[in-house]
Amino acid sequence: MVWSDPLLRHKTSPMKHAVTIAGGGLAGLSLGIALRMRGVPVTLHEAGTYPRHRVCGEFISGVTDSTLETLGIAEDFLTATSLTSAVWHDTRGRVCELQVAGRGISRWRLDDALQRRFTTLGGTLATHSRIAPAPGTIWAAGRPRRHGPWIGLKCHATNLPLSHDLEMHLGSNGYIGLAPIEDGKVNICGLFKKSPTRGAKGTSLLTTILREGGLHDTADRLESATLDSSAFCGVAGFETGRQPSEGFSIGDATHMIPPFTGNGMSMAFESAETALPHALSYARGECSWDSASSSCAADLENRFRARMLASAAIHTLLTSPKASRLATTLARSSLLPIQPLLHLLR
Ligand SMILES: Cc1cc2nc3c(=O)[nH]c(=O)nc-3n(C[C@H](O)[C@H](O)[C@H](O)COP(=O)(O)OP(=O)(O)OC[C@H]3O[C@@H](n4cnc5c(N)ncnc54)[C@H](O)[C@@H]3O)c2cc1C
Repeated sequence: MVWSDPLLRHKTSPMKHAVTIAGGGLAGLSLGIALRMRGVPVTLHEAGTYPRHRVCGEFISGVTDSTLETLGIAEDFLTATSLTSAVWHDTRGRVCELQVAGRGISRWRLDDALQRRFTTLGGTLATHSRIAPAPGTIWAAGRPRRHGPWIGLKCHATNLPLSHDLEMHLGSNGYIGLAPIEDGKVNICGLFKKSPTRGAKGTSLLTTILREGGLHDTADRLESATLDSSAFCGVAGFETGRQPSEGFSIGDATHMIPPFTGNGMSMAFESAETALPHALSYARGECSWDSASSSCAADLENRFRARMLASAAIHTLLTSPKASRLATTLARSSLLPIQPLLHLLR
């Protein structure tokens, strides 16, 4: 089936250019794999190494089987946990239940599987290699450093029973999601407003922030669970939304959708899928680097514009105390069309 893909006509068309990719996260690795499958020489530079934990809810929603097959990575999701039910809580308790269509898999496992696939296909991977933007380099280096108001925290836990496949808890200072991944573990990941006054560190920072935001029940549950401190990580200094990127960029480097959507990983894969024909045309010598970059940027904008606008509006609603109180009140009375709103985010 794969060989009927018209993008695979490299069998008869030799490559004129190799491709360099900066960033071995989901966008960079999946594009690298897709290009290798089509015979393009690819060198990928990754600032870190594998396997490694990353701040991420590890709840993937919105990506289609067709995108995963085009990129050649569908097999890497066979062990992902299927997630279908969700519940939304705030500090006053349960708000509503939702249907979702997601998959749970840790970045520890997923990124490692992708880098293995890339190198098995003959890709050249340089780890601990941080490079600068340059013509001829596809920029997949993730969210750029900015002065954003957020801190993202993540940890894994065992002995943490969940009421639904995905639990979202909205506090007065942000939100946290709990979702199963592999081996009976639960991923705990939240986005919170930064505060200069917090003294706590490590996993106790998570429970401190939850209590500050009024989510005492959730904090109690985390304190009773077995937290894996080796999986704890945090990130700050970013803003969600359209990023000030230039050149040939994909993934969070161009569009960082707010995390509550569970769609960022999907967008990383979708952006690789969108970039693929442009990178391939450049590699075959059918277009210049500048032309490949600008057509890819235009296609990404068309693909993501609507969901970026919808998600920004809902993010503001959720993270502004007055607006979120109104939203949860309406949702409790079934006056907020939540399922249709969720469709806008895909
Ligand atoms: C708090 C939080 C929760 C989230 N929860 C979810 C969720 O539940 N579901 C979901 O779908 N998405 C979620 N996301 C978003 C998701 O993690 C990202 O959208 C996704 O990781 C983007 O993939 P990427 O490949 O673009 O970037 P990344 O995965 O960030 O990869 C970029 C890579 O580039 C490397 N790099 C950086 N600079 C350089 C350089 N100069 N040279 C070489 N390498 C470099 C980095 O080391 C990194 O490995 C969440 C994000 C946050 C912050």
